[in-house]
Amino acid sequence: MAKKTSATPDVEKMRHSCAHVLAQAVLEMFPEAKLGFGPAIENGFYYDFDLPRTLIPEDLPILEKKMKHIVKQNQKFKLVEKNVDESISYLEKINQDYKVEASNDLKKEGFDKITFYENINQKGEMTFVDMCEGPHLEGTSKIGPFKLTHTAGAYWRGDEKRPMLQRIYAVCFTTQKELDDYLKQMEEAKKRDHRRLGTDLDLFMFDEEVGAGLPLWLPNGAYIRHKVMEFAFNTYLENGYDPVSTPHIANVALWSHSGHLDFYSDSMYGSLTIDEEEYKLKPMNCPLHVKMYNSSTRSYRELPFRWTEMGTVYRYERSGTLHGLTRVRGFTQDDAHIICRPDQLKEELEKALKLTLYILNTFGFKDIEMNVSVRDPENKSKFIGEDKLWKQAENTLKEVLEASGFKDYIYDIGGAVFYGPKIDVKVADSIGRKWQLSTIQFDFNLPTRFGMAYVGEDGKNHTPFMIHRALLGSLERFIGVLIEHYGGAFPAWLAPIPVVIIPVAQAHEKYAEEILKKLKEKGIRAKLYNSTDTLGKRIRLAEMKKIPYMAVVGDKEVKAKSLAIRNYKTKKQETVKAEKFLTNLQKEIIDRD
Ligand SMILES: [Zn+2]
Ligand SMILES: [Zn+2]
Repeated sequence: MAKKTSATPDVEKMRHSCAHVLAQAVLEMFPEAKLGFGPAIENGFYYDFDLPRTLIPEDLPILEKKMKHIVKQNQKFKLVEKNVDESISYLEKINQDYKVEASNDLKKEGFDKITFYENINQKGEMTFVDMCEGPHLEGTSKIGPFKLTHTAGAYWRGDEKRPMLQRIYAVCFTTQKELDDYLKQMEEAKKRDHRRLGTDLDLFMFDEEVGAGLPLWLPNGAYIRHKVMEFAFNTYLENGYDPVSTPHIANVALWSHSGHLDFYSDSMYGSLTIDEEEYKLKPMNCPLHVKMYNSSTRSYRELPFRWTEMGTVYRYERSGTLHGLTRVRGFTQDDAHIICRPDQLKEELEKALKLTLYILNTFGFKDIEMNVSVRDPENKSKFIGEDKLWKQAENTLKEVLEASGFKDYIYDIGGAVFYGPKIDVKVADSIGRKWQLSTIQFDFNLPTRFGMAYVGEDGKNHTPFMIHRALLGSLERFIGVLIEHYGGAFPAWLAPIPVVIIPVAQAHEKYAEEILKKLKEKGIRAKLYNSTDTLGKRIRLAEMKKIPYMAVVGDKEVKAKSLAIRNYKTKKQETVKAEKFLTNLQKEIIDRD
């Protein structure tokens, strides 16, 4: 079993062994069950089954009980090798149709032997068998604490034209504490699920008739999206970037020239025909920026170029992988391309990294992990670009990271894409989950393909370095992460409504309206909650909408020109002078606190 997760091979082996135990328990419960695949995944494993009926939540504890019983027995995992034809007829005999198909494929690929793992109980009887490449533990007693978490539909081989199987997900750890901590985090994550909060807070929606993976931003969500985009874009302009803007579609000739048709066509949508010419929705902005660069002769004196675009791109994602805002079919990137001379590389990378940290810190992401992916020096043919360029790029990446205090970055040899090394930035959110957000990526492909050049001091043509960078990544995904990170309680600078004013009774409405007017003068979006609902009900509504500040006004406040402020985050209440609150809130918004 190739390593697929961030866990150690031993932990992966344990998790996958636990998956076999689950399959054994499922077969005890449904002898006619047909097995799909059951790999280890992050924090646990899953297994896909074709079952005579749909599983209900109550099935999971029953299966867990059966699994615990198997684990206790310390059944041994025994490796058995069969030749391929014998394997196929054996799997046919035990009615494991999906495994028959998988073994037929292996036969076509030229395998002559197939491995199986049997479970053997203390009496020496075979209790379970699965076609599997392993590896496995010695026996089931080495399996750590686990829990079956949920089920989901999953197409056989991820193909929507094939049968839908039932996938059982599980988590499995080496110690009880790890399991408990993880389950607690999951519980918290459920409350923060951006899909649920998106509905509760009227942020965004999907509509069947519009299409899957195509989010519709409601006013509250669109406001947040606007604020995030405005902050990022303005920050780039303040940091020496220039704005550019390009269309959503481009002639197929461009995508052929850039290599996207050869290497990226699986992610691209079908063509549109305009005046008998073929066009495609753009999956990336890069070739369009390259065209602008190439539109005139560039001198070494003009470099570096830092061109940024909030570019909307479209990429095909299978319907089964779509997930709220974090996996969609059309999204906007805070894209930029840095085109520079070799002697500017270090400074440009330093600046890009500094900017990344500033942007992420502003959103409260403090725990940041750097992942550097470089070429495999043993397998250079997989990568394009001259040795000299790779070396300079990789060394500069390392140097810059170390100089910025990131000594313990993760170094992935062979993890680079074929056209250049990169830094991926992962952040931990407020409940410790990691998300990959920013990317800073070299490209040795496009400059060559498009013959990008600048005239050097020597009067000759030189090829510039080209760096792609997106710091938020996809805005849709970033905001999905942000909703979960904040648990829907946005700070005042991002909140669609940072403050509501709640008059206790009608007599206090005039004063409330004065405050509203003053807030609006300061450019602060505020709302008056002056409906005929009871005070308690209006306070609960503001709570539910996770409004950062509630300003309640009654007799006392009107008289003292003050406000009774309730802070959503701290749950504290205090009475402050109205002027002071207005100034403080304005400062908080400007400072993006
Ligand atoms: Zn296995
Ligand atoms: Zn790019």
